[in-house]
Amino acid sequence: MVTMLLARTVLTMDPTRPILKDAAVIFDTKIIEVTDDPAVIERYARDRAVEVIEGGAHTVVMPGLINSHLHLEFSAQRTELDYGSFMGWLYSVMEKRERLVSACKEACYTRTLESIAASGVTTIGAVSSYGFDLAACADSPLKVVYFNELIGSNPAAADMIFADFVDRLESSFERMSDRLYPAVAVHSPYSVHPVLVRKAVHLAKSRGLPIGAHFMESRSERRWLDSGSGEFKPFFEQFLKSATPVGSAADFLSCFEGVKPLFIHGVHASDEELSTIARMGGTLVHCPVSNRLLGCGRLNLEKVKNREIGYAVATDGLSSNYTLDLFSELRHALLMHEGLDLALLARDLIRSVTEIPARAMGLHTGRLVAGRSADVISFDLPGEVEHERLTYAQVILHAQKMRTVFIEGEPIDIPKEPLDDR
Ligand SMILES: [Zn+2]
Repeated sequence: MVTMLLARTVLTMDPTRPILKDAAVIFDTKIIEVTDDPAVIERYARDRAVEVIEGGAHTVVMPGLINSHLHLEFSAQRTELDYGSFMGWLYSVMEKRERLVSACKEACYTRTLESIAASGVTTIGAVSSYGFDLAACADSPLKVVYFNELIGSNPAAADMIFADFVDRLESSFERMSDRLYPAVAVHSPYSVHPVLVRKAVHLAKSRGLPIGAHFMESRSERRWLDSGSGEFKPFFEQFLKSATPVGSAADFLSCFEGVKPLFIHGVHASDEELSTIARMGGTLVHCPVSNRLLGCGRLNLEKVKNREIGYAVATDGLSSNYTLDLFSELRHALLMHEGLDLALLARDLIRSVTEIPARAMGLHTGRLVAGRSADVISFDLPGEVEHERLTYAQVILHAQKMRTVFIEGEPIDIPKEPLDDR
């Protein structure tokens, strides 16, 4: 089945012709053609085998969004965790974790995934701590890069921790498909023993899997890794019976040589660490709402850009956000980084949820060009964009309800009422 989606504006994310007017995207499971040539559009329109979907006066078509970092297992969380400071939040997670994770059952996962797709996201990077979300992810029409998480700093338990991680990874391989891709997540430099970090990186490298790690999210993490002091000290003494960090931030980064990792947050990364990430070809994942709610501060996007590090905006999980709506996250990012040029920031933010995370996770999506997966969304703007340089900004400000969502050319049901993703 071939579909032709017509629109007033097509954002291709192809740098040779990024914005097309009065254009069409023609696809089956892959993009066949993207054109603004009226004769070509007319030819497809006359072909009985092509389903034509007309656009409205201000319809925008663009690649489906990629939310590269979230934790589905905390999707039952709304109002229970402590916000305002990272350590306050972390203590509340330790206290409520078991209850929250067991409160999200199969229906909770399914509704969450449906609401994500209905909001225009066609691919997610889902960090899984326990594997409880695997079946729902594998059964979902969404594309899921399934990051099996490794966490544990006790060297005496390293073999057991790694064996459990490998078990979960193998289970995700059993469910692997053209929509579910197994991947590796290393929790953080403070919570994973260097021996385990190296084993996980080796495994990701040998099997060609995407790999990600939280890195320098909070001031407390910075202080603990730099000097073994600060608010993490009593935390580690209480929960892990340990009084010294397992390694330095520099050692942690050096474990990732030879892979192109995703580093999540990086708010408190030093200039030197950012340069190391740039040299490695790493990607920073930026979760502005989570950083704000946990009192972690704001990532310096100017420094990130100056080093030409690609960044991907993501929501993080409902453990540190009030919504998994990625357009809403983009609106916050657009308003939060007030020092940057509005039009250019908006363009970069749209790249940060399409082509950048697609490249970082090795996915054949994120751009509307012939041969890529037909992950395509459309929605309406409330009026004509009078200033073309602001097209991306107007999309971020006004994209609300999706008109259509296609994943691999297959239409996704969009409920009339917005779904509560609980
Ligand atoms: Zn996270």
